[in-house]
Amino acid sequence: MNSFLKSISALLFISTMTAFTACNNNKNQEKMKEQNNTSLFPKGDKLSNDWFSGDAFLMPLLAKDKNNDFALGSVTFEPRARTHWHTHPKGQVLIVTEGEGFNQEKGKPAKALKKGDVVNIPENVEHWHGASANSKLVHIAITNYKSDENVVWLKPVTDEEYNNVVNN
Ligand code: MN
Repeated sequence: MNSFLKSISALLFISTMTAFTACNNNKNQEKMKEQNNTSLFPKGDKLSNDWFSGDAFLMPLLAKDKNNDFALGSVTFEPRARTHWHTHPKGQVLIVTEGEGFNQEKGKPAKALKKGDVVNIPENVEHWHGASANSKLVHIAITNYKSDENVVWLKPVTDEEYNNVVNN
């Protein structure tokens, strides 16, 4: 192969690879765009039905570390999905990023939740949070630790308890 042909084939190779990479980058950008157009964070993995009713998902964002004595995550509840009744030994803050849902402290009327709402849940107060019947709910949860514990799980929110809230 003479040097002219060599440089032509090298150029062809480089331009093909560039086009291939550009195509892949575009695909990735499309994917990111799709995700960003719908939700702030990916949905993450399904949460156990030992502690959540229906389809709820967790995207962990930050784990407890030497400076931050809390866990940070984005929780997605599909319609009708909800936590079990539970308490947090040092409280919890929820920031709603998408959809509609409810938060209820035991013995009190439920509060409707919408995008932008901030909920400050005191320590050791029995409560649940979850989606409304026809909409998903996505919230960021900032859950403080007391030693190595940040949640105590209790009984499921029964369909009767849930329906009393969503049908009111
Ligand atoms: Mn909670």
